[in-house]
Amino acid sequence: MARYTGPACRLCRRAGEKLFLKGERCFTAKCAIERRRRAPGATGQSRSRRLSDYGVQLREKRKARVVYGVLERQFRRYYQVARKNPQATGLVLMQHLERRLDNVVYRLDFAESRAQARQMVSHGHFNVNGRKVDIASYSVKPGDTIAWKPPSLDSEFARTLIAAMPRKSLPGWLSLDTATMTGAIVRLPQAEDLETTIQSRLIVEFYSK
Ligand code: SF4
Repeated sequence: MARYTGPACRLCRRAGEKLFLKGERCFTAKCAIERRRRAPGATGQSRSRRLSDYGVQLREKRKARVVYGVLERQFRRYYQVARKNPQATGLVLMQHLERRLDNVVYRLDFAESRAQARQMVSHGHFNVNGRKVDIASYSVKPGDTIAWKPPSLDSEFARTLIAAMPRKSLPGWLSLDTATMTGAIVRLPQAEDLETTIQSRLIVEFYSK
């Protein structure tokens, strides 16, 4: 599937905040947004420029798309499905994004970034409920288990990633058996489980126009 392949740091600079798209580098002095205070482009838009309500909503939607690595068409589809749910649309939208297999691999700390997780999933390194799944957008549900495939788990690549764990804390909707490196979906993610600063309310307002 088509996806953005340009510089990740440019997306952070455009958003005006750290979106943590590159793993370890985001926590070092090499982070581009720490070094350049202006937005990308020849003139460099001032971040202090006041945005309209529409601009704020659009920026929030773009931020969510960038953080989860989802293209517009798919993102809109998540919104349309969420809108039909009787629960709060914003929360259901975020649940759809969080339940993507690439995000779950990242949240289980099996990968340094969502982009790396997406690549690892598409290369077939993980089983869901004992069966290989190589679709990054695959939506997990409570009761599912996510585990490294045995040959992948024995690789140098996996050992290096596992040795660096924990890089981040585990959200309450996931559990991890570190002996077998198997994660499980305990329940659906709730608002307090989200690690991003995305305001889903603004995204709902954007699409509701
Ligand atoms: Fe964003 Fe990470 Fe690049 Fe910093 S290093 S600008 S947080 S992607």
